[in-house]
Amino acid sequence: RLYNEVQELKGNIRVYCRIRPFLQGQDKKQTSIEYTGENGELVVANPLKQGKDTYRLFKFNKVFGPASTQEEVFLDTRPLIRSILDGYNVCIFAYGQTGSGKTYTMSGPSITSEEDWGVNYRALNDLFHLTQSRQNSVIYEVGVQMVEIYNEQVRDLLSEDGPNKRLGIWNTALPNGLAVPDASMHSVKSTEDVLELMNIGLMNRTVGATTLNEKSSRSHSVVSVHVRGVDVKTESVLRGSLHLVDLAGSERVGRSEVTGERLKETQYINKSLSALGDVIFALAHKNPHVPYRNSKLTQVLQNSLGGQAKTLMFVQINPDEDSYAETVSTLKFAERVS
Ligand code: ADP
Ligand code: MG
Repeated sequence: RLYNEVQELKGNIRVYCRIRPFLQGQDKKQTSIEYTGENGELVVANPLKQGKDTYRLFKFNKVFGPASTQEEVFLDTRPLIRSILDGYNVCIFAYGQTGSGKTYTMSGPSITSEEDWGVNYRALNDLFHLTQSRQNSVIYEVGVQMVEIYNEQVRDLLSEDGPNKRLGIWNTALPNGLAVPDASMHSVKSTEDVLELMNIGLMNRTVGATTLNEKSSRSHSVVSVHVRGVDVKTESVLRGSLHLVDLAGSERVGRSEVTGERLKETQYINKSLSALGDVIFALAHKNPHVPYRNSKLTQVLQNSLGGQAKTLMFVQINPDEDSYAETVSTLKFAERVS
């Protein structure tokens, strides 16, 4: 088959592909991206093949090309954010190999300029504006937790005692919908509060890591935003949540290349990413059994994936020929869950 077709996505799961631009010093001519279409089509070209076998077509809800801005990306995310205030649970993931732009999309390259802000800050900023505009009819409270999942252990990135305590996960939803009740909850009232908290979380993530990118590419970080709204007239309570997940790098590391600690990390990452793929696959295909129990990541998100919940996956890819094998592996993951 010339093309590898992907079904149009339905229901509550959306997949957006974002292509990272070439970085300084990379040769733009050596690209594996053949074509991107307005309708969510992406054609990649295998640098080692010729003729019609060179090309593969993938289809997404949307493809963001290398020139897309943070603002453009957020415009297509915004409707999900609004639904949180109406009581929906939303999960947003960034998936891809290390260096493909996951953190760029979720957090941004820096937080000093608003233009750079990623989905995290824009989402929270939007939430605050919306809650303010509705304050005559609904009083909202917003709380934030931030945890890291590293080697199948959950740690609180916002704990005052540092991120060392291992946290348990509750299998059944608590009335307040929390899956990790022991992770510290921080009440936030403004985007500034959020920026401050995320800085603390980021600092805690670097503890023990030689470089920030090294650690952050080996662990999943989950920012959980819990919203509780009380209707002024009826006093009825509505809860919604938003989980923002910067996943560990999806690159396949050959077993022969790694040993010891690094091999363990790799096995845990592969396990949790495939568990996530299995859960989203089961949800997308409406399978009666959804295998949440196979990883800490899917357990932490269990109450917020499936049912009425809405899921958005950013599939991040590199544009260069050298990344072709990883790019196809990433695109295949996306194809399977959609
Ligand atoms: P990941 O989190 O997947 O490892 P990063 O987000 O750290 O990748 O991105 C790797 C590098 O590429 C960083 O220097 C980042 O600033 C840059 N980068 C990623 N995406 C973009 C983009 N859309 N525009 C400009 N630079 C980008
Ligand atoms: Mg990163």
